[in-house]
This record gives sequence, C-alpha cells and structure tokens, in this order.
Amino acid sequence: MLKVTKFGGSSMADAGQYRKVRDIVLADPERKVVIVSAAGKRNSDDHKLTDLLYLCHAHTKYGVACDPIFDMITSRYLEIRDELGLSLDLESEFAELKKRLDAKQVSKDELASRGEYYSAKLMAAFLDFDFVDAADWIFFNMDGSVDKQTSYDALKKVGSGKGIVIPGFYGAMPDGRIRTFSRGGSDITGALAAAALDATVYENWTDVSGILMADPRIVENPQPIPEVTYDELRELSYAGAQVLHEGTIMPVREKGIPVNIRNTNAPDDRGTFIQESFDTETDPHRVITGITGKKDFSIITMFKRGMTSQVGVLRKVLSVLERHGISVDFVPNGIDNVSLVVRTDAIAKHLYAIMAEIQQEVQPDSLEVLDNISVIAAVGHRMAFRPGVSGRIFNALGEAGINIRMINQGPDELNIIFGVDNKDFAEAIRVLYNSFVK
Ligand code: ADP
Ligand code: ASP
Ligand code: MG
Repeated sequence: MLKVTKFGGSSMADAGQYRKVRDIVLADPERKVVIVSAAGKRNSDDHKLTDLLYLCHAHTKYGVACDPIFDMITSRYLEIRDELGLSLDLESEFAELKKRLDAKQVSKDELASRGEYYSAKLMAAFLDFDFVDAADWIFFNMDGSVDKQTSYDALKKVGSGKGIVIPGFYGAMPDGRIRTFSRGGSDITGALAAAALDATVYENWTDVSGILMADPRIVENPQPIPEVTYDELRELSYAGAQVLHEGTIMPVREKGIPVNIRNTNAPDDRGTFIQESFDTETDPHRVITGITGKKDFSIITMFKRGMTSQVGVLRKVLSVLERHGISVDFVPNGIDNVSLVVRTDAIAKHLYAIMAEIQQEVQPDSLEVLDNISVIAAVGHRMAFRPGVSGRIFNALGEAGINIRMINQGPDELNIIFGVDNKDFAEAIRVLYNSFVK
C-alpha cells in the first residue's frame, strides 16, 4: 500500500513548514513518495521562488546582472537548511549554477526548475529519504506531451526501498534538456508518480482544507467540498477554480486513483476526495457542488432572420474564428440568433477583421459585441434533470438586481453557465453561494 503525497509552495515556504511536512509524512508509513514545489510565499508581501527564478533569467537574458535576486533565492534555501540543522553542501551547487548562468548556459526552464530541485534536496535530507531527480524519469516527447509509459517504467526502477522525494514541475526532453510544465505543474508530477506506482491515493497537500465551494477571496469562509467527481472538477477548474493544475486528473483517472486535497496547516481536516463516482456521499442533498467563474469575456451576437432554416450558417461563423486561431468557449443560441463567447484577450487583436469576415460571409441582420463579461458556472452532478435549479439561480440573481447576459447549459446538465457584467462578478458568486449553501 503506497500513498503519493505532494506538498505545494506554501507548505515548503520556511523551516516551520518543513517540520509540518515531516510530521505529516512520518505519521503514516504508507506515505513513501513525496513530491515538493519550490518555496512559496511566507506572507502576502513575500515572493514565490519560481517568480524570482524567472525574474533572474529575464535579467541575464538582457545582460543585466541578477546577483541581488540570485542572493535572495539562495539565502531562502540556506536559511531553511541552517534552521533545520542540515549539513547539505548547497553552496558549491549554487556557485556552479551561477557560473553557468553568467555564461548564459542555463535555459529559462532549467533555471525555473531549480526551485523544486533544491526544495527536494533539502526535504530528502530532512526526511532521510532518497532524492530522485524528476529529470531521470519524467520524459517529454518532442511535442511537449509526457511519454507516460517510458516515464512510469523508469520511476518503477528507482529507489532503494526507502522513501523518496521528487522535485515537482519538470522533466527531461529527449536530448536531456530540462523542460518544465506550465505554472502550477508540480501537481502533474505528483499525479504521474501516483499513476506510475499504482498508489492507493494521491494526497495533494496545500494551504486550504480541500476544494472550497467558492473562491475564498470572494466568499468569506466557504465550505469545503467533501466529494467531487473528476468530471465536476474539470468543469470547476475550466471555469476558474484553480486549485489543481488541469493536467493532474488524466494520469490518476486512467488508473482509478482517488485524489485527496489536504491542508498542511490543518492536517486533521479530511479535505476533498476526487474520484470517478461515490457510493456514499457526506451530503447527498447538496444540489450545487461548487461555484466558480472567470472575468473578461466578450460575446459576439448575430441575428439573422430565418437562420434556423439555412444550412451552414454556424459553420461559416465558426470557421472565421478558426482561421484566426481562436477557440470558442460557449455557443448559446436562439432560433434566429447565435452568440459566441470568447476570451477578450484572445480576440482583441483580431476583432475588426473577424467582424468584417462574419459580416461578409453570413450577412446577418445585426452583429454586436459585448465586452467586460464574466462567465460564472454552477457545477454539480445532482443538478441533472432536477427541475427548478435554474429558476432558483435566476431568481436569486434577479432579486439582487444582477442582469444576466447569457445562459448556457451543457447537455449532461453538469453545469449551468451564465454571463454577467464584470462589475457584478463577485456579487453574483456570493448571491448564488448564499442562496444554495446557507
Ligand atoms: P499550492 O501552492 O499548494 O499548489 P495553489 O496556490 O496552487 O496551492 O492552490 C491553492 C489556492 O487556491 C488556495 O490558497 C486558494 O487561495 C485558491 N483557490 C481558488 N479557488 C479555490 C477554491 N474553489 N477552493 C480552494 N482554493 C481555491
Ligand atoms: N513552482 C511552480 C510554480 O510556481 C510549480 C508549482 O508550484 O506547482 O508554478
Ligand atoms: Mg498549485
């Protein structure tokens, strides 16, 4: 029986956090595999090490010395080492790295990866576990995807039987160069390790007691979600709840491994369980699993009399966007009208060309763009085929004086998505939360 554990940046921020991590890992002999992030912020004014590493690389790229930033980075690690009383020689590794950095021999990805690398070195020493470099088993294909089978086979072969600590966030390209995942990617490293080793659970330790029903920066003290299915989570993350990197689910889902989000600062809390489905649920009467959203969308709406009876209108419109390489998030429609909901930053540069092309190809009776739209999603598998849920949502928003600009529901009825003005974003989430949770 094996549990894979991943500790995020805030769990690795200073020596005090390292002690909490050690207590958690050693409390359960099945916690034999530990994935760590780079040190995160110690308080709201602090810096994430990964951000400092990117900043340092940008300096050297433009020929500006990054010595003060480099010193900030190394001293964070030296401080942790000394406070924990470890006798690891980091100084010579730092000196070697700095030499190569000054000679412009360190790529952006390699430098960024050093945040997790040093975290893992320190945590391995502190736990007396083996250090296993991610570059020795996570292998990328040339297109940036992970060669899962080769990677899994490689991880199965390492280790001396003791526990292991692996740096998150990166792996190796076919030529050996280091490549990172996108930001937040240590979550993926943990998922790959869990899948490779057929773990019974993938524990993802962070600074909240699970996935919360709404963003804690918007709703005060939102309740944690006790159980969420992989599908619901995908909807929640797509629409804005960024707790896990979206690349995390696939590797564990393929192997049927549950994910448990836990809080390093409150280790007794049960957190959130994520799996395919649940036989029993903590709160089977909960209609909505979670509420999330994102700001800054645009809605292009066209109206054309008799549109339903004409073949190919929608295809023509979508192919205009395809030509400009823009993906469309939602396509709500009526009888003689259709809207395209897209991210404003994706479309901004192309907007005039796109409008002109749609005008020319479809000749709509009217064509309008609405900016500053937020898309909000209420997600929950229990909403499916339950009458009255959308009515309740729209009533609550109406009573609060919030205008609804767009409505969209997927055919699986896992979510109800609607658009409001950006200025109403936070209030709309609070209104929904209060009307469904309290
Ligand atoms: P880590 O560094 O451990 O990977 P992250 O910062 O990536 O942690 O993710 C945890 C953070 O996600 C929380 O501190 C919280 O501010 C934020 N967050 C946003 N939406 C939610 C939500 N619905 N539930 C829980 N946390 C959320
Ligand atoms: N340290 C990386 C980041 O800040 C990866 C991670 O924390 O998951 O994006
Ligand atoms: Mg994260």
